[in-house]
Amino acid sequence: RAKSSATRGLSFYHAEMDAAERHRRRMKDELRLALAEGQFHLLCQVQVNLQTGEPCGHEMLLRWNHPERGPVPPAEFIPLAEESGLILPIGEWVLREACALAAANPQLGRVAVNLSAVQFSQPDLPRQVEQALAASGLPAGRLELEITESTLMLDRSRTLPLLERIKALGVHVAIDDFGTGYSSLGTLRSFPFDKIKLDRSFMAELDTSPQAVGILRAVIGIGRALEIPVLAEGVETQSQLEHLRAEGCDEVQGYLLGRPAPVPGQENAPSGDGTLAA
Ligand code: C2E
Ligand code: MG
Ligand code: MG
Ligand code: MG
Repeated sequence: RAKSSATRGLSFYHAEMDAAERHRRRMKDELRLALAEGQFHLLCQVQVNLQTGEPCGHEMLLRWNHPERGPVPPAEFIPLAEESGLILPIGEWVLREACALAAANPQLGRVAVNLSAVQFSQPDLPRQVEQALAASGLPAGRLELEITESTLMLDRSRTLPLLERIKALGVHVAIDDFGTGYSSLGTLRSFPFDKIKLDRSFMAELDTSPQAVGILRAVIGIGRALEIPVLAEGVETQSQLEHLRAEGCDEVQGYLLGRPAPVPGQENAPSGDGTLAA
């Protein structure tokens, strides 16, 4: 009896695995169609200069408006797109779309686009960037590419030469989610980044923990040493903003300053910011 219930438990487990795996496969198939059917769009989130209080740029964030499920957040579909390789055509679409939107909307300032580590498997990534700029007429200085530390950790000998070629175009390169990866200091010295984006996980404790304030101060010190601005991500409260101002943080981004929203003139694109309701 004990054995049969153990077996039942096991097959239940397998059935659950199968269901999860079926769901993932279906999502991958649907992702393939999504690009062809125009189910993706980009939202933009403002980045504000803390000194002047003026907007200095916008991050472009990918959204998938699924015909039945509605908005699917990137955390749910980017990993699947990476596994299936679909992130390559999707990433190329994001680049071209972001450049086109930026060119048509000078008030957006510099636009920041997220790159997946998988995109660095393509030796022609710099050419894709160049073509997105040329097709839109966007000056290279108005484009910033965001990469995470983990991207650099994958295979430096491959990523660094591609990044060098991208930077040579005049495009900015920012390090995203800083503080969540490994060997951050070595990473920062190995490549001339234009901006540090401090991960939003550091914001949560800013109000309660002197250590968090100390870390913030240290990261701003690194930015000063490298002569590049530090942007704090995920700023949600006025008191976080006051800490950041007091420590001399250069730029801020977060719900307090503005939620991800459609680009002006694109309001008729499928709505919803694709994140789960809080
Ligand atoms: P990320 O690049 O670190 O983007 C910032 C994320 O934080 C966004 O989530 C944004 O909506 C969210 N956020 C902004 N302000 C706040 C805040 O005050 N509080 C909180 N809790 N969250 C805030 P989103 O749009 O869901 O994107 C999640 C991640 O998906 C991004 O993190 C990025 O890694 C990835 N992603 C988004 N678009 C693309 C894309 O076009 N290509 C690739 N490869 N990845 C993308
Ligand atoms: Mg980002
Ligand atoms: Mg980030
Ligand atoms: Mg993040």
